[in-house]
Amino acid sequence: MDCSYFGSRLNLYVDGELGYLEVAELQGHLSFCPDCAAELARLSEVRGALAAWGEVELAPPPGFAERIAAAAAQEARPGQATVGRVVGGALEALDDALGRIPLPGGRTVPVKNVLGYGIAATAVIIQVERFLRRTRELKPL
Ligand SMILES: [Zn+2]
Repeated sequence: MDCSYFGSRLNLYVDGELGYLEVAELQGHLSFCPDCAAELARLSEVRGALAAWGEVELAPPPGFAERIAAAAAQEARPGQATVGRVVGGALEALDDALGRIPLPGGRTVPVKNVLGYGIAATAVIIQVERFLRRTRELKPL
């Protein structure tokens, strides 16, 4: 029998899947065939390395889980920007601190909303003022 026959059985031999007679036949060939013996040595080396690799515990570096958790906490959820979350948190804190203004009819409005309307109105007034000043400057004499 030639080397290709035994070469195809080397994997089975390494895995211990050959019968007694097949092992004896292969070992007989290996005793006088340096090529197949070398191939067996190479296969055994690879198997040994794979087995050793499987036994190595793949542990993350120290603090890895904590850093991932911190990064995930920093990461904005989809559709929610980080700035939006910060502003939302600040507005909630303002809501708690300022409370609500009672309106006629038993309804209430958050104080922060009233402040927000005031700030927005001020911004509009400032922009209108700037616009008017610019148009006056551009007017021909
Ligand atoms: Zn051989």
